[in-house]
Amino acid sequence: MTLELKQSPTLKDIQDYVLQMKKERGFNLTDKFYECCLLAEECGELISAVRKNSKNGSIGSGSHVGNVSEELADVLIYICSLANMHGIDLEQAFRDKEEINKQRTWKRL
Ligand SMILES: [Mg+2]
Repeated sequence: MTLELKQSPTLKDIQDYVLQMKKERGFNLTDKFYECCLLAEECGELISAVRKNSKNGSIGSGSHVGNVSEELADVLIYICSLANMHGIDLEQAFRDKEEINKQRTWKRL
């Protein structure tokens, strides 16, 4: 099967793509804790990229820092992957959580 993400994909399409991509590339498909570690690592890379791109950001000269776009994509990959490992439909999870969030009272600090 050719790895291809269709135009205007749904979140489910992206989740399915990530599952297929990980199978084809031989990446971890079962160790949820390890996947959480990789997600945390990518979140760190995202923070570095945002910091690098911020007005007052600075980064060590020897550091390799990706751009924000790439790091957001990496984070999305691991979020999709963790959802797949747990049998979670992310779109439905988002809808369900937003229904809960709508009932909450939000306080500004
Ligand atoms: Mg990355």
